[in-house]
Amino acid sequence: MNKVRGIFIGRMQPVHNGHMQIIDKILEEVDEIIIGIGSAQLSHSLKNPFTAGERVVMLNQALAERGVDPSRYYIIPMQDINFNALWVSHVKMLTPPFSIIYSGNQLVKQLFSEEGFEVRQPPLYDRLRLSGTEVRTRMIEGGNWEELVPNATINLINEINGDERIKNLSIREISEI
Ligand code: NAD
Repeated sequence: MNKVRGIFIGRMQPVHNGHMQIIDKILEEVDEIIIGIGSAQLSHSLKNPFTAGERVVMLNQALAERGVDPSRYYIIPMQDINFNALWVSHVKMLTPPFSIIYSGNQLVKQLFSEEGFEVRQPPLYDRLRLSGTEVRTRMIEGGNWEELVPNATINLINEINGDERIKNLSIREISEI
């Protein structure tokens, strides 16, 4: 029997508890999940502080912590391309075959539905708090970002001094203001 595969693509800047709940939900519905680490080429900016490799570690360890069977997921970093109309083909080139895309991102949903894929919207999990923007803002402001992310994200960010990185990136030179 063919496996039913679903794909979920996110920048995961950083991996947070909302991403993990979405992954749990998808795994209830499909045999295998492909997790795309989007905008893999971006790092060291306020919106995209972490490298693709750092995000792979966060996710890999977070899935291990949750006891997810490694034979049920693929983690694939994917760079952006300049052509939205070609992006779905680019994603297909990088991934095992799949039939369902899970996304709450309007552009992602539009592009995949135009190519004939089944699009499913994951439920919202405490969306205002569980967002990359909220985690990054708390990191800059010295708030409790740790409560929003899995232990694996905390460990990796501590290992690379990630909160110092993001605080340093937030300091603007007078010439930039
Ligand atoms: P993200 O990490 O912000 O979110 C990932 C997904 O999780 C989204 O579908 C979002 O709706 C969902 N989500 C996050 N928190 C949630 C919560 N608490 N509850 C429910 N759902 C939640 O990533 P993103 O920015 O949506 O990632 C899309 C990626 O696709 C980006 O890297 C983007 O650049 C890429 N992309 C590239 C092209 C191109 O290269 N031309 C085109 C379209 C999209």
